[in-house]
Amino acid sequence: MAPENPTLTARAAERALHGFALDLRWSWNHATDPLWRQINPECWEHTQNPWTTLNNASRAHLNALLNKPAFRREVGHAMAAQAEGLRHPTWFAQQHDASALSCIAYFSMEYMLSEALPIYSGGLGNVAGDQLKAASDLGVPVVAVGLLFAQGYFRQELTPDGQQHALYPFNDPSLLPISPVLTKEGDVLRIPIRFARGHVWIRAWKATVGRATLYLLDTNDPANPPGVRCVTTQLYGGDADLRLRQELTLGIAGWRLLDTLGYQPDVCHLNEGHAAFAAVERACGLMDRLHIPFREALTIARAGTLFTTHTAVPAGFDRFPPDLVRTYLADYTANRLGIPMESLLALGRANPNDHGEPFNMAWLAIRASGAVNGVSRLHGTVSRRLFAPLFPRWPECEVPVGHVTNGVHTPSWDSVEADTLWTEAAGPERWRGTQEGVADRIRALDDRTLWSARCQARAGFVRKITDLCAQQQGYTGNGGPSDLPVPTLSPDVLTLGFARRFATYKRPDLLLHDPDRLARLLSHHERPMQLVLAGKAHPADMAGQALITRWIAFSLRPDVRGRVIFMADYDMALGQVLVQGVDLWINTPRRPWEASGTSGMKVLVNGGLNLSELDGWWAEAYAPEVGWALGDGREHGDDPAVDAAEAEALYTLLETEIAPAFYARDPQGIPASWVARMRESMARLTPLFSANRVVRDYTERFYLPAAARYHARLADGGRAAREIVQWQDLLDTSWPDMHIDSVTISQPDGQYHVTVALALGPVPADAVQVQFYADPVDGGPAAITIIPPAGCRDADGLTHYALTTRLDRPVTDYTVRVVPTHAGMAIPLESPHIAWQR
Ligand SMILES: *Cc1c(COP(=O)(O)O)cnc(C)c1O
Repeated sequence: MAPENPTLTARAAERALHGFALDLRWSWNHATDPLWRQINPECWEHTQNPWTTLNNASRAHLNALLNKPAFRREVGHAMAAQAEGLRHPTWFAQQHDASALSCIAYFSMEYMLSEALPIYSGGLGNVAGDQLKAASDLGVPVVAVGLLFAQGYFRQELTPDGQQHALYPFNDPSLLPISPVLTKEGDVLRIPIRFARGHVWIRAWKATVGRATLYLLDTNDPANPPGVRCVTTQLYGGDADLRLRQELTLGIAGWRLLDTLGYQPDVCHLNEGHAAFAAVERACGLMDRLHIPFREALTIARAGTLFTTHTAVPAGFDRFPPDLVRTYLADYTANRLGIPMESLLALGRANPNDHGEPFNMAWLAIRASGAVNGVSRLHGTVSRRLFAPLFPRWPECEVPVGHVTNGVHTPSWDSVEADTLWTEAAGPERWRGTQEGVADRIRALDDRTLWSARCQARAGFVRKITDLCAQQQGYTGNGGPSDLPVPTLSPDVLTLGFARRFATYKRPDLLLHDPDRLARLLSHHERPMQLVLAGKAHPADMAGQALITRWIAFSLRPDVRGRVIFMADYDMALGQVLVQGVDLWINTPRRPWEASGTSGMKVLVNGGLNLSELDGWWAEAYAPEVGWALGDGREHGDDPAVDAAEAEALYTLLETEIAPAFYARDPQGIPASWVARMRESMARLTPLFSANRVVRDYTERFYLPAAARYHARLADGGRAAREIVQWQDLLDTSWPDMHIDSVTISQPDGQYHVTVALALGPVPADAVQVQFYADPVDGGPAAITIIPPAGCRDADGLTHYALTTRLDRPVTDYTVRVVPTHAGMAIPLESPHIAWQR
């Protein structure tokens, strides 16, 4: 719909450009690209960053443009189109507008939204950024909180002898697409918090991400001492002391910021345990508001808190020495929470009575949450094992951790060619609704359309990599014969991609197991391959850096030189080039250490195929019709014999299946079986592993129920929470005195008759449930049948229960157990008691 008068004044047009440049929507919606190209073509081509493009434009040129009615009309049309898009009712507005869910506060240490805002390291930030964008698409009311890192994560330069140099360029906030958060009076907003006993000045910045907002906290204020100013300098640098102060900033100052700005979140989503102090501070706010003690306040807050865990190894959890926590939190605990320090420390310990145990942020997050999830089906299973110590005597399958498999924000990772293809096939609204019918539209595409899009993307990729390499090497005195190789890639050759953090569990050297065999595969005379790699190793990870050195050395071999390219400084922009261009994405983690992995999902929309270890998301996505798998789906630790066998399997797959499929051409020059896989991978997997599906899952399975439970506990001055705390206290003191006195099982008439006599002692009968339980078989659910009460407490003080049932499984599989039960409570998350038949 065109507005009445589409010609704006020059001032209004300039204001509109500022608004566009400050809205990171441009990172996935390209409607305004033509404007930036006119404003500053050179900078735009180089950076694809509207804010930088606008700020580096020549004033004279900009004025000249703004004085042209045609240009102003173009700006006016872009404004109208955006307003029209915002008027369009979103999925959330259509499906859940009347719900109790009005605001979700999302906390994450890092966000990968665009190279224009480099405050991320990798996968965790990718998940946070992509979900925020999908929340914007779907209209899910999320407000996000993070840290503004002045140097972010390190940047990488490579020397021809394969050394990684870590660089820390400064992110000048005035040059980033963010604006300072001000008070109503227009003053700089400061969030008061204390580290130990010292007051800290914390400022905030605002990033706009379509309909969503991200607030970034910043300690770098000259009013702070140097040690405090540096808290938000680097991501994942420094020691435990720094990390703890970062997490206090994120959680405590982050929650206070939202409160100060008037947000009243129903749900708090903790993206990894780093952010767990947000739940504590949220309870603090409720204490003040309702004049209730900390435990009751935390009980209310918990109902509306979701914790997403991302690590597959215990070492991935942040753990702090108790004394460090005492140093920073003694004052807060005594004066704000009003509880003994040991009670706070107990929330971060598996065994609350073990005073030597470190303070584990994941344990704190679990104790402060009403629901917990891992990030793939397999990672759910692994997380139940990791969190089992908090639920002693509970079967591992009932440890309360579910899963929502990650997905990527498709519009942020698709190429221009892929976007065109999908728009023609499935319409421009395809990622903003429920994605229904999208798979079938893609399945209807013919071979020629799919294959020519793939060939175009590969040709574009070869050009981009060649240009990028020239740029990277141009700055470093490279270019002589002994320097890093200049690409001699071909637009027709099977193109493999491998990029990830160079952590040893990712086994970035698996492909290098037999370098001669790899070199022979790459330089095969009929079915050659080319390989583009990238990856950074943490500056403290010497083993990871050594793997980079090995790859650079390999890329210098004369027999592969120019066709194995290791690109420096793997970042989001390079990631986009890679996932849009390659035919095959290779991933070789050691199962089960890859919680999900997301890079392989980014190739789906672009028609790339995956060859991956059966770990993380691929363990549930893989089928022979969509790609290739490595490994036997079991765990083998770091057994070198298994690594060797998997490397052999990898070479054999490439040699005998993958290259033949790519090069087997029909009379039209199309590799039919390759294209069939492309089509099925695109159609089946792209919608399933999209952030669209993820955000709808979180909303319907977690946010909506959490909001309802939170409001139920909040009602009436927190009455339900008070009752829960009393109930917990009663159960904690009386549970040890309860036991199962006797169990009888008879089979009078083909049915089983089970009776139980329970010595409840001081435990109220309505606080427990008696169950007939059998462990799960073959990954199915456990069999749990409730044994109903049969009469009241008798003269011996025993309470009787009876059940008559048929069984599908041998009676010897079953046992009797007693678990707590209370309306509206998550068991065993909020009360991990359990008693078993002896
Ligand atoms: C997608 C992405 C990641 C995460 O990918 P993994 O599958 O976890 O390796 C990391 N870094 C960048 C730059 C990415 O684009």
